[in-house]
Amino acid sequence: MARYTASVCRLCRREGAKLFLKGSRCYTKKCSFERRPSPPGQHAVRRRKVGDFGLQLREKQKVRRVYQVLERQFKNYFEEAGSRPGVTGENLLRILELRLDNAVYRMGFTSSRAQARQLVTHGHFSVNGRSTNIPSYQLKPGDRVEVRESHRTREPFKLAAEQIRSRQVPEWLSVDAAKLAGAVVDAPRRDQMPLDLNEQLVVEYYSR
Ligand code: SF4
Repeated sequence: MARYTASVCRLCRREGAKLFLKGSRCYTKKCSFERRPSPPGQHAVRRRKVGDFGLQLREKQKVRRVYQVLERQFKNYFEEAGSRPGVTGENLLRILELRLDNAVYRMGFTSSRAQARQLVTHGHFSVNGRSTNIPSYQLKPGDRVEVRESHRTREPFKLAAEQIRSRQVPEWLSVDAAKLAGAVVDAPRRDQMPLDLNEQLVVEYYSR
């Protein structure tokens, strides 16, 4: 399974925004973007005027990097979003939000999507009682996600029950911290998905 392995903090500096890719570090003074918000690279300070295409490209990259999806899979998601009824951009964000790794992160089991992806890959989670190790697994309303019973005493989950209580879980999910389990209550509406992502620019990028 291909994945991005270079410094993720560079991605925040590249996109000019905090993408919160490093878990708890992102909320401390150690955040690289807080310390050096300029784009990476030797001549980064020489900013050029950005045209429409540049804006669309940067927003597409930003959305892709927030959810940590590689280019080909992101394009596939866009095509899938376009084939569904409704607004393509919203459909795209909904598909991304309903990925298993994103739901695990949103439920508060992990402090970042990268950690969620790793723990899913290592087989710590089940969906509707069946062990699932595919981070891109698409959840649907009614699905129940839980830490597998025999894995609940393992290190990453000892703290998780406490952390979950302090996390704000979106309305479209429900969480039972004591059982280390959660469920998809409903498909997320646009106002329940990140408001700082401009999906319309992504649609324009792929519609050129
Ligand atoms: Fe981005 Fe987090 Fe790194 Fe800050 S610490 S630059 S928010 S990934």
